[in-house]
Amino acid sequence: MSTTDPHHLYASGRARSEGEPMSTTYDRGLHDLGDGVSAWLLPDGSWGWSNAGLVRGDGESLLFDTLFDLPLTREMLDAMAPLTETAPIRHLVNSHANGDHCFGNELVPAEATVYAGTDFTHHLHEASPAVLQSMMESDYGPVGTAYLQRWFGPFTFTGISVREPEVTVDTSLTVDVGGRDVELLMLGPAHTASDLVAWVPDAGVLFAGDLLFLGGAPIVWAGPAAAWIDACDRMIALDPRHVVPGHGPVTDTDGIREVRSYLEFVRDYAAETFQAGMGWREAADRIDLASFDSLDNSERIIANLYTEYRHLDPETPQQGLPELIVGMAEWDAARSR
Ligand SMILES: [Zn+2]
Repeated sequence: MSTTDPHHLYASGRARSEGEPMSTTYDRGLHDLGDGVSAWLLPDGSWGWSNAGLVRGDGESLLFDTLFDLPLTREMLDAMAPLTETAPIRHLVNSHANGDHCFGNELVPAEATVYAGTDFTHHLHEASPAVLQSMMESDYGPVGTAYLQRWFGPFTFTGISVREPEVTVDTSLTVDVGGRDVELLMLGPAHTASDLVAWVPDAGVLFAGDLLFLGGAPIVWAGPAAAWIDACDRMIALDPRHVVPGHGPVTDTDGIREVRSYLEFVRDYAAETFQAGMGWREAADRIDLASFDSLDNSERIIANLYTEYRHLDPETPQQGLPELIVGMAEWDAARSR
Protein backbone atom coordinates (compact mmCIF):
# COMPACT_ATOMS: atom_id res chain seq x y z
CA MET A 1 0.00 0.00 0.00
CA SER A 2 1.38 3.35 -0.98
CA THR A 3 -0.01 6.83 -0.43
CA THR A 4 1.28 7.86 -3.87
CA ASP A 5 -0.90 5.35 -5.72
CA PRO A 6 -3.85 7.40 -7.05
CA HIS A 7 -6.08 4.33 -7.08
CA HIS A 8 -5.38 3.50 -3.48
CA LEU A 9 -8.50 3.51 -1.33
CA TYR A 10 -7.30 5.08 1.87
CA ALA A 11 -5.62 8.45 2.07
CA SER A 12 -3.53 7.38 5.02
CA GLY A 13 -2.10 4.14 3.71
CA ARG A 14 -2.93 2.56 7.06
CA ALA A 15 -2.90 -1.20 7.30
CA ARG A 16 -6.15 -3.09 6.82
CA SER A 17 -7.38 -4.67 10.01
CA GLU A 18 -8.42 -8.30 10.41
CA GLY A 19 -11.71 -9.13 8.67
CA GLU A 20 -11.99 -5.77 6.97
CA PRO A 21 -12.93 -5.95 3.25
CA MET A 22 -10.16 -5.34 0.74
CA SER A 23 -9.55 -1.79 -0.36
CA THR A 24 -11.64 -0.68 -3.31
CA THR A 25 -9.89 0.80 -6.32
CA TYR A 26 -10.93 4.20 -7.59
CA ASP A 27 -12.63 2.95 -10.73
CA ARG A 28 -15.88 4.10 -12.29
CA GLY A 29 -18.70 1.87 -11.12
CA LEU A 30 -20.19 -0.02 -8.22
CA HIS A 31 -18.00 -1.07 -5.29
CA ASP A 32 -19.07 -3.49 -2.56
CA LEU A 33 -18.19 -2.15 0.89
CA GLY A 34 -19.57 -5.24 2.63
CA ASP A 35 -22.71 -5.66 4.79
CA GLY A 36 -25.07 -4.84 1.90
CA VAL A 37 -23.57 -1.40 1.36
CA SER A 38 -22.18 -0.24 -1.99
CA ALA A 39 -20.55 2.89 -3.31
CA TRP A 40 -20.91 4.23 -6.84
CA LEU A 41 -17.70 6.05 -7.80
CA LEU A 42 -17.14 8.45 -10.70
CA PRO A 43 -13.48 9.33 -11.19
CA ASP A 44 -11.83 11.74 -11.46
CA GLY A 45 -13.92 13.53 -8.86
CA SER A 46 -13.48 17.00 -10.39
CA TRP A 47 -16.47 19.33 -11.06
CA GLY A 48 -19.62 17.23 -11.50
CA TRP A 49 -17.99 13.78 -11.21
CA SER A 50 -19.63 12.74 -7.96
CA ASN A 51 -20.17 9.58 -5.92
CA ALA A 52 -23.36 7.95 -4.63
CA GLY A 53 -24.27 4.93 -2.53
CA LEU A 54 -26.74 2.13 -1.93
CA VAL A 55 -27.77 0.57 1.39
CA ARG A 56 -29.77 -2.65 1.09
CA GLY A 57 -32.14 -3.91 3.76
CA ASP A 58 -34.70 -6.70 3.72
CA GLY A 59 -36.80 -6.11 0.58
CA GLU A 60 -35.90 -2.44 0.12
CA SER A 61 -32.96 -0.10 -0.43
CA LEU A 62 -31.87 3.45 0.26
CA LEU A 63 -30.06 5.38 -2.47
CA PHE A 64 -27.75 8.17 -1.35
CA ASP A 65 -27.67 10.84 -4.09
CA THR A 66 -28.30 10.81 -7.81
CA LEU A 67 -25.84 12.24 -10.37
CA PHE A 68 -25.31 15.36 -12.50
CA ASP A 69 -27.43 14.32 -15.46
CA LEU A 70 -29.86 11.67 -16.64
CA PRO A 71 -27.43 9.47 -18.65
CA LEU A 72 -25.01 9.23 -15.70
CA THR A 73 -27.85 8.41 -13.29
CA ARG A 74 -29.33 5.85 -15.68
CA GLU A 75 -25.94 4.13 -16.00
CA MET A 76 -25.72 3.91 -12.21
CA LEU A 77 -29.27 2.63 -11.69
CA ASP A 78 -28.74 0.00 -14.42
CA ALA A 79 -25.55 -1.19 -12.71
CA MET A 80 -27.44 -1.39 -9.39
CA ALA A 81 -30.37 -3.32 -10.93
CA PRO A 82 -29.10 -6.79 -9.90
CA LEU A 83 -29.07 -5.52 -6.30
CA THR A 84 -32.31 -3.52 -6.38
CA GLU A 85 -34.33 -6.23 -8.13
CA THR A 86 -35.06 -7.91 -4.80
CA ALA A 87 -34.59 -4.71 -2.76
CA PRO A 88 -36.14 -1.83 -4.74
CA ILE A 89 -35.18 1.76 -3.90
CA ARG A 90 -37.78 3.04 -1.44
CA HIS A 91 -35.71 5.88 0.04
CA LEU A 92 -33.66 8.53 -1.78
CA VAL A 93 -31.44 10.88 0.21
CA ASN A 94 -30.08 14.03 -1.42
CA SER A 95 -26.95 15.14 0.42
CA HIS A 96 -27.42 18.72 -0.79
CA ALA A 97 -28.89 20.80 -3.61
CA ASN A 98 -25.89 20.95 -5.99
CA GLY A 99 -26.94 19.35 -9.28
CA ASP A 100 -24.28 16.64 -9.24
CA HIS A 101 -26.14 15.11 -6.28
CA CYS A 102 -29.78 15.45 -7.34
CA PHE A 103 -30.31 16.17 -11.06
CA GLY A 104 -31.07 12.48 -11.68
CA ASN A 105 -33.86 12.28 -9.05
CA GLU A 106 -36.65 11.80 -11.59
CA LEU A 107 -35.23 8.40 -12.60
CA VAL A 108 -35.66 6.90 -9.13
CA PRO A 109 -38.90 4.89 -8.69
CA ALA A 110 -41.83 7.16 -7.84
CA GLU A 111 -42.63 5.08 -4.70
CA ALA A 112 -39.37 6.21 -3.11
CA THR A 113 -39.53 8.87 -0.39
CA VAL A 114 -37.03 11.69 -1.01
CA TYR A 115 -35.18 13.23 1.96
CA ALA A 116 -33.03 16.36 2.12
CA GLY A 117 -31.75 18.90 4.62
CA THR A 118 -33.14 22.35 5.46
CA ASP A 119 -33.36 24.92 2.65
CA PHE A 120 -32.70 22.35 -0.08
CA THR A 121 -35.35 23.59 -2.51
CA HIS A 122 -34.32 27.24 -2.23
CA HIS A 123 -30.74 26.36 -3.14
CA LEU A 124 -31.79 23.99 -5.89
CA HIS A 125 -33.58 26.82 -7.66
CA GLU A 126 -30.49 29.06 -7.46
CA ALA A 127 -28.52 26.59 -9.59
CA SER A 128 -31.25 24.61 -11.35
CA PRO A 129 -30.65 22.71 -14.62
CA ALA A 130 -32.08 25.74 -16.48
CA VAL A 131 -29.68 28.12 -14.71
CA LEU A 132 -26.69 25.90 -15.56
CA GLN A 133 -27.85 25.46 -19.17
CA SER A 134 -28.17 29.22 -19.61
CA MET A 135 -24.67 29.70 -18.15
CA MET A 136 -23.34 27.19 -20.70
CA GLU A 137 -24.91 29.27 -23.47
CA SER A 138 -23.58 32.61 -22.18
CA ASP A 139 -20.39 34.44 -23.06
CA TYR A 140 -18.17 35.13 -20.06
CA GLY A 141 -15.13 36.11 -22.11
CA PRO A 142 -12.52 33.70 -23.47
CA VAL A 143 -11.13 32.52 -20.12
CA GLY A 144 -14.46 32.11 -18.30
CA THR A 145 -16.23 30.48 -21.22
CA ALA A 146 -13.36 28.05 -21.84
CA TYR A 147 -13.37 27.09 -18.16
CA LEU A 148 -17.11 26.41 -18.16
CA GLN A 149 -16.91 24.37 -21.36
CA ARG A 150 -13.92 22.40 -20.10
CA TRP A 151 -15.46 21.41 -16.78
CA PHE A 152 -19.22 21.44 -17.39
CA GLY A 153 -19.31 20.64 -21.12
CA PRO A 154 -19.41 16.83 -20.58
CA PHE A 155 -22.85 17.01 -18.89
CA THR A 156 -26.38 17.44 -20.29
CA PHE A 157 -28.58 19.94 -18.43
CA THR A 158 -31.52 19.96 -20.83
CA GLY A 159 -34.67 17.89 -20.31
CA ILE A 160 -34.22 17.59 -16.54
CA SER A 161 -37.09 18.13 -14.12
CA VAL A 162 -35.71 17.62 -10.61
CA ARG A 163 -38.01 15.72 -8.32
CA GLU A 164 -37.97 17.67 -5.06
CA PRO A 165 -37.67 16.15 -1.57
CA GLU A 166 -40.79 15.65 0.50
CA VAL A 167 -39.10 15.05 3.85
CA THR A 168 -36.92 17.80 5.32
CA VAL A 169 -34.34 16.83 7.94
CA ASP A 170 -33.55 19.76 10.24
CA THR A 171 -31.28 17.93 12.69
CA SER A 172 -31.45 14.14 12.36
CA LEU A 173 -33.74 11.35 11.29
CA THR A 174 -33.43 7.57 11.57
CA VAL A 175 -34.80 5.77 8.51
CA ASP A 176 -35.75 2.09 8.72
CA VAL A 177 -34.46 0.51 5.51
CA GLY A 178 -35.87 -3.01 5.48
CA GLY A 179 -35.07 -3.62 9.14
CA ARG A 180 -31.77 -1.75 9.40
CA ASP A 181 -31.24 1.80 10.63
CA VAL A 182 -29.73 4.53 8.50
CA GLU A 183 -29.17 7.77 10.37
CA LEU A 184 -29.50 10.99 8.42
CA LEU A 185 -27.58 13.80 10.10
CA MET A 186 -27.92 17.42 9.02
CA LEU A 187 -24.40 18.85 9.44
CA GLY A 188 -24.82 22.08 7.45
CA PRO A 189 -24.54 24.88 6.76
CA ALA A 190 -20.99 24.05 5.74
CA HIS A 191 -20.31 23.18 2.07
CA THR A 192 -23.87 24.38 1.34
CA ALA A 193 -26.82 25.35 3.53
CA SER A 194 -28.20 21.81 3.58
CA ASP A 195 -25.46 19.21 4.06
CA LEU A 196 -27.01 15.89 4.95
CA VAL A 197 -24.89 12.78 5.59
CA ALA A 198 -26.01 9.16 5.97
CA TRP A 199 -24.47 6.99 8.67
CA VAL A 200 -24.98 3.24 8.50
CA PRO A 201 -23.97 2.13 12.02
CA ASP A 202 -24.28 -1.64 11.53
CA ALA A 203 -21.81 -1.47 8.62
CA GLY A 204 -19.62 1.36 9.89
CA VAL A 205 -20.11 3.24 6.61
CA LEU A 206 -20.55 7.00 6.32
CA PHE A 207 -21.81 8.65 3.14
CA ALA A 208 -20.49 12.19 3.54
CA GLY A 209 -21.67 13.91 0.35
CA ASP A 210 -19.70 17.06 -0.41
CA LEU A 211 -18.59 17.53 3.18
CA LEU A 212 -15.67 15.58 1.75
CA PHE A 213 -13.67 16.16 -1.41
CA LEU A 214 -10.62 13.89 -1.76
CA GLY A 215 -7.95 14.67 -4.33
CA GLY A 216 -9.60 18.01 -5.17
CA ALA A 217 -9.96 21.20 -3.15
CA PRO A 218 -13.16 21.47 -1.10
CA ILE A 219 -15.39 24.37 -2.15
CA VAL A 220 -17.09 26.46 0.51
CA TRP A 221 -20.39 27.80 -0.89
CA ALA A 222 -22.13 28.46 2.46
CA GLY A 223 -19.50 28.30 5.19
CA PRO A 224 -17.98 29.57 7.28
CA ALA A 225 -15.01 27.19 7.23
CA ALA A 226 -15.31 26.91 11.02
CA ALA A 227 -18.79 25.36 10.69
CA TRP A 228 -17.45 22.83 8.20
CA ILE A 229 -14.58 22.02 10.59
CA ASP A 230 -17.24 21.29 13.25
CA ALA A 231 -19.00 19.02 10.74
CA CYS A 232 -15.68 17.18 10.19
CA ASP A 233 -15.36 16.68 13.95
CA ARG A 234 -18.86 15.22 14.11
CA MET A 235 -18.05 12.81 11.28
CA ILE A 236 -14.76 11.77 12.90
CA ALA A 237 -16.64 11.15 16.18
CA LEU A 238 -18.81 8.54 14.44
CA ASP A 239 -15.58 6.52 13.99
CA PRO A 240 -16.56 5.11 10.57
CA ARG A 241 -14.62 2.25 8.96
CA HIS A 242 -15.37 3.39 5.43
CA VAL A 243 -16.18 6.92 4.35
CA VAL A 244 -17.62 7.63 0.90
CA PRO A 245 -16.86 11.23 -0.06
CA GLY A 246 -18.95 13.27 -2.51
CA HIS A 247 -15.90 13.40 -4.78
CA GLY A 248 -12.80 11.20 -4.83
CA PRO A 249 -11.90 7.69 -3.65
CA VAL A 250 -13.41 5.92 -0.63
CA THR A 251 -11.52 6.89 2.49
CA ASP A 252 -11.56 6.65 6.28
CA THR A 253 -11.23 9.14 9.12
CA ASP A 254 -7.80 10.20 7.84
CA GLY A 255 -9.53 11.51 4.70
CA ILE A 256 -11.84 13.59 6.93
CA ARG A 257 -8.77 14.96 8.73
CA GLU A 258 -7.20 15.98 5.40
CA VAL A 259 -10.27 18.02 4.47
CA ARG A 260 -10.36 19.47 7.98
CA SER A 261 -6.76 20.68 7.71
CA TYR A 262 -7.46 22.41 4.37
CA LEU A 263 -10.42 24.21 5.97
CA GLU A 264 -8.30 25.27 8.94
CA PHE A 265 -5.78 26.69 6.52
CA VAL A 266 -8.51 28.68 4.70
CA ARG A 267 -10.02 29.91 7.97
CA ASP A 268 -6.68 31.06 9.39
CA TYR A 269 -5.39 32.63 6.18
CA ALA A 270 -8.64 34.58 5.61
CA ALA A 271 -8.63 35.83 9.21
CA GLU A 272 -5.02 36.97 8.82
CA THR A 273 -5.44 38.80 5.47
CA PHE A 274 -8.76 40.32 6.59
CA GLN A 275 -7.08 41.66 9.74
CA ALA A 276 -4.30 43.08 7.58
CA GLY A 277 -6.91 45.02 5.56
CA MET A 278 -6.38 43.04 2.37
CA GLY A 279 -9.34 42.34 0.05
CA TRP A 280 -10.31 38.73 -0.63
CA ARG A 281 -9.33 38.89 -4.28
CA GLU A 282 -5.84 40.16 -3.51
CA ALA A 283 -5.56 37.57 -0.74
CA ALA A 284 -6.37 34.87 -3.30
CA ASP A 285 -3.80 36.24 -5.75
CA ARG A 286 -1.09 36.25 -3.10
CA ILE A 287 -1.86 32.95 -1.42
CA ASP A 288 0.78 30.26 -1.08
CA LEU A 289 -1.29 27.07 -0.96
CA ALA A 290 1.75 25.29 0.41
CA SER A 291 0.95 21.62 0.98
CA PHE A 292 -2.48 21.91 -0.67
CA ASP A 293 -1.50 22.95 -4.19
CA SER A 294 -1.38 19.33 -5.34
CA LEU A 295 -5.18 19.23 -4.98
CA ASP A 296 -7.10 19.47 -8.25
CA ASN A 297 -9.23 22.57 -8.77
CA SER A 298 -7.08 24.62 -6.40
CA GLU A 299 -8.74 27.69 -8.00
CA ARG A 300 -11.66 27.03 -5.65
CA ILE A 301 -9.66 29.15 -3.20
CA ILE A 302 -11.39 32.10 -4.92
CA ALA A 303 -14.85 31.02 -3.77
CA ASN A 304 -13.49 29.90 -0.41
CA LEU A 305 -11.88 33.21 0.50
CA TYR A 306 -14.88 35.15 -0.83
CA THR A 307 -17.24 33.11 1.36
CA GLU A 308 -15.00 33.48 4.39
CA TYR A 309 -14.83 37.26 3.89
CA ARG A 310 -18.63 37.47 3.60
CA HIS A 311 -18.80 35.93 7.06
CA LEU A 312 -16.08 38.21 8.42
CA ASP A 313 -17.75 41.28 6.90
CA PRO A 314 -21.31 40.98 5.56
CA GLU A 315 -20.72 44.26 3.67
CA THR A 316 -18.33 42.44 1.33
CA PRO A 317 -19.90 42.97 -2.12
CA GLN A 318 -21.85 39.92 -3.21
CA GLN A 319 -20.73 37.80 -6.17
CA GLY A 320 -23.07 35.71 -8.29
CA LEU A 321 -22.26 32.17 -9.41
CA PRO A 322 -21.01 33.32 -12.87
CA GLU A 323 -18.70 35.94 -11.29
CA LEU A 324 -17.21 33.33 -8.97
CA ILE A 325 -16.71 30.86 -11.83
CA VAL A 326 -15.01 33.52 -13.95
CA GLY A 327 -12.88 34.48 -10.93
CA MET A 328 -11.79 30.86 -10.52
CA ALA A 329 -11.05 30.58 -14.25
CA GLU A 330 -8.90 33.71 -14.18
CA TRP A 331 -7.04 32.66 -11.04
CA ASP A 332 -6.34 29.27 -12.61
CA ALA A 333 -5.16 30.86 -15.88
CA ALA A 334 -2.85 33.25 -14.00
CA ARG A 335 -1.34 30.42 -11.94
CA SER A 336 -0.82 28.25 -15.04
CA ARG A 337 1.20 30.96 -16.80
ZN1 LIG B 1 -20.60 17.55 -5.66
